Amino acid sequence: MDMQPLDVDEIRASFVNCSRGEAKSLTVPTDVPWATRDFLGWRDPKAPGRAYLVVAHRDELIGLSLRAAPPAKSRLRSNMCGFCGTTHTLADITLFSGRRAGKAGREGNTLGTYLCADLACDAYVRGERRPAVPQPHESLTVEQRLERMRGKVGLFVERVLETR
Ligand SMILES: [Zn+2]
Repeated sequence: MDMQPLDVDEIRASFVNCSRGEAKSLTVPTDVPWATRDFLGWRDPKAPGRAYLVVAHRDELIGLSLRAAPPAKSRLRSNMCGFCGTTHTLADITLFSGRRAGKAGREGNTLGTYLCADLACDAYVRGERRPAVPQPHESLTVEQRLERMRGKVGLFVERVLETR
């Protein structure tokens, strides 16, 4: 279930929870290794508090604009990504929140989740990137972990879209 390569216009047109102005002005990544990406996630290099997810969801391309919270001052030493389950130090995990797409969003309702700060979830699952801390033992295969991640990404998309 790899992503099909997308061009800049397709990516910009996919956004469901931000203004057209924001979708037009956001920085779209280049050199994406499409064949090993299940979804596209990136931080805006020109606006570090902004992040984006583009997901193929039920035959539709859904782009979500997210806000990245500043680093947490928590007593926890580490935390787990809500998509891929990778354990990170607090420096490598970020609370992302997205405005919901419908009426709730217009009323200021957002949805938040802790994720890999660089949004490179599938690179961690595939072992292309290594987290800074040792990982708890997982009995699942890489393919099973990717499947679990896709399920969680899909659920987040549905909750932002209010279809769930
Ligand atoms: Zn992750």
